[in-house]
Amino acid sequence: MTTLKHALRTLKAANQALARSTPGSKGRQRARARLAKTHRKVVNTRRHLVHQASRALVDRCQVIVIEDLNVVGMVRNRHLSRSISDAAMGEFSRQLLYKARWHGVEVRVADRWFPSSKTCSGCGVVREDLDLSTRTYSCGTCGLVIDRDLNAAINLARWQPAGPSAVTLKEPTHALLLSTA
Ligand SMILES: [Zn+2]
Repeated sequence: MTTLKHALRTLKAANQALARSTPGSKGRQRARARLAKTHRKVVNTRRHLVHQASRALVDRCQVIVIEDLNVVGMVRNRHLSRSISDAAMGEFSRQLLYKARWHGVEVRVADRWFPSSKTCSGCGVVREDLDLSTRTYSCGTCGLVIDRDLNAAINLARWQPAGPSAVTLKEPTHALLLSTA
């Protein structure tokens, strides 16, 4: 299976080849066909990765907590735009929800106001000053130093819905797969 990075690099090269080719030439026709082919490859690679990741989660977990995030706002942020669109978040949450239903896995959707990243998983204090480029969470109160995403994942694992209505499975607009990469 081609990696996504490789497929995207090939796509970029195919785009550049098309831009360099002479309009109306045989070379342009070939470049256009090649671009279409590499584009399909990127789509297939993404689809495969999303299937693999959602399947792995429902196989291993009884309960999955995801965040209902404002992805449109995040995509505007240049630090996150690439990883968010690459991971095809809308498609990911859609697949996760239907596979969870099949396997009887419960999905809880934490609301977007839950400060999963800013809360210390050690002592519960909430930091107000955590920007997106800070990849390590360090707590001034209890001294905990932990990977940012791992800290958020621990907080989400402990998250409890506020009322009984919040437990029911609802379609999130988007979901964020916390990665430890
Ligand atoms: Zn702490």
